[in-house]
Amino acid sequence: MIRKFISQVFGHKLPGRGGEPTVIPHARHGIRREALSNGSRRVIETLQDNGYQAFVVGGAVRDLLVGIEPKDFDVATDATPEQARQCFRRARIIGRRFQIVHVMMGQETVEVTTFRGHHGQQDTPRAQTDAQGRVLRDNVFGSQKEDAARRDFTVNALYYDPVAETVIDYHQGLADLERKTLRMIGHPATRCREDPVRMLRAVRLAAKLDFSIDADTLRTLGELAGLIENVPPSRLFDEMLKLLTSGHSVKCLQRLRAEGLHHGLLPLLDVILEQSLGKRFVTLALENTDRRVRDGRPISPGFLFATLLWNEVLNQWEALKTGGERPIPALYLAMDNVLDAQAEKLAITRRVAGDIKDIWALQPRFELRSGKRSHGLLEQPRFKAGLDFLLLRAESGEVDAALGQWWLNFLNADGETRAAMLLAQGPGAEKKRRRRKRKSGAAAGVAADTTTAECP
Ligand code: ATP
Ligand code: MG
Repeated sequence: MIRKFISQVFGHKLPGRGGEPTVIPHARHGIRREALSNGSRRVIETLQDNGYQAFVVGGAVRDLLVGIEPKDFDVATDATPEQARQCFRRARIIGRRFQIVHVMMGQETVEVTTFRGHHGQQDTPRAQTDAQGRVLRDNVFGSQKEDAARRDFTVNALYYDPVAETVIDYHQGLADLERKTLRMIGHPATRCREDPVRMLRAVRLAAKLDFSIDADTLRTLGELAGLIENVPPSRLFDEMLKLLTSGHSVKCLQRLRAEGLHHGLLPLLDVILEQSLGKRFVTLALENTDRRVRDGRPISPGFLFATLLWNEVLNQWEALKTGGERPIPALYLAMDNVLDAQAEKLAITRRVAGDIKDIWALQPRFELRSGKRSHGLLEQPRFKAGLDFLLLRAESGEVDAALGQWWLNFLNADGETRAAMLLAQGPGAEKKRRRRKRKSGAAAGVAADTTTAECP
C-alpha cells in the first residue's frame, strides 16, 4: 500500500539499491524535450525507431535539472557502435579502446555511446588494474543498469528519454540533486582508486553546481589525494584544464585548498597556492578567466598556464641572474626549467607550451620603447596575449601600471600619435630612465634588469 502510494507520487517504481530504477514522470522532473539540442533529439528518435533504447545521459540531464544550459548532449544506447552507425547517413565510429559513434546532424555532432558494463565481471574479460587499483582497460559493453553503476556520481547517472519524457534514475540521483549533494556511486574509496581523476571531478562539479560533497566521498578525497600522482600526465592536463576553464576556477582552487587536497593533488597547485607573492597575480588571472568563460569569450590554455607558472619563472630567473647569468639567456633557461619540472606530472601539450613561452618571452620586450622595436612588437603574432599578460602583471603590482597603459595607448593610437609617443620616449628619455633606475639601485628588480637587455 505504502509502496504503491510512494511510487505514484515519486515515480513508477521504488528505487532499489542497485536494483530496479525509478522512472520519473515529466510532472516530477519538469525537463522539456525542446530543451535538448535538435541533433540529440533526432538521434534518439531514430535509434528508438530502429528498436533500440536511447537516452540523453550524464552532465546534460543533471544541468537541465538544475537549470544550467548544458555544454553538450551525450546519447547512450543499447545499440552496439556498428548497429548505431548503420541507423544514420552521416555517422562514423571513432576510438579504439572504447568505440563511440559520432553522428553528424546538420552542424551538430552528437556523441553516441553504447552502455558500458562492469569491469571485472565473471562473464566478461576482467578489467586490468594497476597496483593501486586504477582501471587500465575498460571496454566492455553492458546493460543500462551496469552503465549507470559505472558512472561517477549519482547526479551524473540520470537518463532522459525525450520520447517518453521520463527520467530513469538507478541511484537516487534526483534526490541527491535536490539535496544539492554530490555523492559517489558505490564505495567511494574503490571508485577513487579505480580512477583518481574522479577526485578532481568531484571538486570541479561541486564548484560548478554549488553542491556540497557528501561526507563519505569527502573523507575519501582527503585520504586518497596522493593517488593523483598515479594518473597519466596527459589526462591530468585535460582534467586540470577543464577545472581551470570551468568558469569557477577560483572556487575550485579554494575548495581544493579547504579540503587540504591541493598538496597531493597537483604539484602545480602546490607552487601556486603556497606563494603569497604570486597569489595576487594568480587570483587576478583566474578571476579574469572566470569572467571570460561566463561572458562566452574564448580562453587560451597557453595564457592560463603562463599566468599560473609565471611566479615560478620569476623566482628562477632572479636566481639565475644572481648567479651571474645574463638576463635574457637566464629568462629562457628559467622558462625551460619550469616547464620541464611541470611536465613530469602534468603533460602540457607541445602547442600550449609554445604559446606559454611566446607570452613569457615578450615580457622583457615591453620594457623597450623605441621606434623600430615598438612597431616590431606590434607585429608579433602573440602581441595581444603578451599585452594582456603585461596588464595583469601591472594590475597585480609587479610592474609599473604606467607601462601597461602606455602599450595599451600605443596599440590603440593612430600613426601620428604613435610617433609622438615614441618621440616622448626618445633615446634621450630612455637613457635618462635607465640612469635613474641604476642610481636608485633598481637593478635588483626584474623589470629594471631587462631594460638593458638585448632582446632576441
Ligand atoms: P561537464 O560536461 O559539465 O564538465 P560532465 O559530468 O558532463 O560534466 P563529462 O566529462 O562530459 O562530464 O562526462 C559525461 C558523463 O560521463 C558524466 O556525467 C559521467 O556520467 C560520466 N563520466 C565522466 N567521467 C567519468 C569518470 N572519470 N568516471 C565515471 N564516470 C564518468
Ligand atoms: Mg559533459
